[in-house]
Amino acid sequence: MTDFILDLATLKPTLNRVEVEATAQEVGLPEAEWRSRITGALRVEKSGSRVSVRGLLASSARLECVRCLNEFDLPVEVELSLFADQSGKSDRREEEALERDDYMLFHDGRRLDLRETVREMLLLELPITPHCREDCPGLCPKCGADLTVGPCNCTA
Ligand SMILES: [Zn+2]
Ligand SMILES: [Zn+2]
Repeated sequence: MTDFILDLATLKPTLNRVEVEATAQEVGLPEAEWRSRITGALRVEKSGSRVSVRGLLASSARLECVRCLNEFDLPVEVELSLFADQSGKSDRREEEALERDDYMLFHDGRRLDLRETVREMLLLELPITPHCREDCPGLCPKCGADLTVGPCNCTA
């Protein structure tokens, strides 16, 4: 078990299965929202200086429902797929072009830091308008009662 900085020296020359785990703080996510650990089950392939990483990231985020304003935990799972090469192996302009591509990273020959990519992928996975459940009844527009716990007197 390691965090999201892969030590390239410990990788076998071909396929590696790597289990990674980190706290929200370790990948730079707010702990108030990301209370459970972030795990990754990765398949890491190393071929010379090129490294490909594929796998599944999992965690859960504490969100506030836009309808009833209750907090709830949303399980978050996202597929990760990226390539990395050693910086300095290709010319500078090519590297800059590649860096704009979300799925291309650079490593220093020793360590591959996945934290920024992991952070971005998890954040992109969050809904813009979170709902605690698909059919959340929300709050009563008249009295403001939370209809997820039961009907209010207005409906009688
Ligand atoms: Zn709700
Ligand atoms: Zn009401």
